[in-house]
Amino acid sequence: MISMSSTPVMDGPELATLRNYVGGRWIEPDAQATLDSLDPTSGETVARVPLSGSGDVDAAVRAARAAFPAWRETSPLVRARALMRLQQELRAHQDEIAALVTHDMGKTLDDAKAEVGRGIESVEAAIAAPHLLKGENLERVARGVDVHMLRQPVGVVAAITPFNFPAMIPLWFLPFALACGNAFILKPSEQDPTPAARIMEIIDSIDAFPPGIVNLVHGAHDAVDGLLDHPGVDAISFVGSAATARYVATRATGNGKRVQALGGAKNSIVVMPDARPELMVEGVIGSAFGAAGQRCLAGSVAVLVGSDAEQQRSLELILQRARELTVGAGDRPDTDVGPVVSAASRERLEREIEQAASQGELVLDGRRDPGAGGADVGPTILDRLPEESAALREELFGPVLSVVRVPHLQAAIDWTNESRYGNAAVIFTSSGGSAQTFRANVEAGMIGVNIGVPAPAAWFPFSGWKDSIDGDLHANGRDAVEFYTRKKVVTERW
Ligand code: NAD
Repeated sequence: MISMSSTPVMDGPELATLRNYVGGRWIEPDAQATLDSLDPTSGETVARVPLSGSGDVDAAVRAARAAFPAWRETSPLVRARALMRLQQELRAHQDEIAALVTHDMGKTLDDAKAEVGRGIESVEAAIAAPHLLKGENLERVARGVDVHMLRQPVGVVAAITPFNFPAMIPLWFLPFALACGNAFILKPSEQDPTPAARIMEIIDSIDAFPPGIVNLVHGAHDAVDGLLDHPGVDAISFVGSAATARYVATRATGNGKRVQALGGAKNSIVVMPDARPELMVEGVIGSAFGAAGQRCLAGSVAVLVGSDAEQQRSLELILQRARELTVGAGDRPDTDVGPVVSAASRERLEREIEQAASQGELVLDGRRDPGAGGADVGPTILDRLPEESAALREELFGPVLSVVRVPHLQAAIDWTNESRYGNAAVIFTSSGGSAQTFRANVEAGMIGVNIGVPAPAAWFPFSGWKDSIDGDLHANGRDAVEFYTRKKVVTERW
């Protein structure tokens, strides 16, 4: 187990119980119930997670509301400088946070380092907020009348985040919310909250943010409901499955809050017959099986285009490389595919694979020895599935790749556009014309051309479409500034 500083945890006789961070202090929540967060490789308990309730949420909201007026009055440049300080500290602790990600969630260390790097990139993007916060004006709209548009912070904003990027996704929201002058509350995933706890500990140690401006509440459904219902919370940023995103968006908007709720995905990777084999194979393998398929940008359907022989050749290339992948502990340097997040997730995936195998052809079976326990699922490839198969249409969130065969590009685009999701879509081709047609017509918000995981840099929005988002403003980039500010238009005559 990776030891954590004693600051954010309550030292018990056997195991650390995490604490909430409220008003600049580590506090023991009222909640009596706890949940164990487990290392998916060893099954050992990483931390005991308190399941905060509405009273614990209320304490965080009160602290945030009390801190908000002074932070709002703080110059945007001073707020940006506080984020510069945070950026430096996060960089200095990047490997340590990555180790916590691997320990608590399971992904490989290299992947975890990249995740933390992406989170830091969001802090870097938010440092530009003074520029992005500038308003607009137009003089003389009528005789003696000028108009100004100002941006002001929304107030107290909360982020509710998923297990699959336990460091990066909290950092999508925290820096932009703060840069725009808001007070912030994070409710991280109860499945792997230790990276977020460590980030809060770093924030606590640098003394760059006034007490109450950044708060952490551990917990699960009750803590989420507490945030969604609390009149002192003005906006909710959410990332998680499509069903939870819909629930969060419906409940929070019903309570008059602004909401951005990013949901699940089922992403196609279109493989044209003219794709460069090496680039295509590495791209498909990294997308489908990296992070054990637990990315919202994971390609989970390979749409193989061309004649029967061309489709078969593409499949053989993917299959050959998939068979070579090493499945194992995330902290081993030779591991390509780490465990999924929990034994329960492994069991769910095994049931899904069993079901799909009964409908089509199981070309590569990643299921482990049933008695072995643990959370390992190896790369799995399914072919010749019926249209209605869940493995083709629903997010399984594991290292499972389903194959679809189509004769030409338009059929690949049509197939992709039938999905209810629209997070990402990828094409591998050496034809500029095919790439152009694909990116113009495919119904998804993040497009990869010869790139398997088209994650936008933090200066751009993370721009899923359709059921991959509820709400209209995305995380990161200008969208984040739009979401975390209210516009005020002043019309004045002199
Ligand atoms: P999840 O929906 O189970 O949980 C997300 C958060 O919601 C957690 O903090 C959890 O405590 C809370 N939650 C879960 N169920 C709830 C309920 N019924 N009521 C109230 N709160 C609830 O998601 P997950 O399994 O942690 O994460 C994986 C999902 O996230 C996948 O579907 C993935 O595609 C999606 N995701 C999407 C994006 C994106 O940008 N669109 C990015 C990353 C992950």
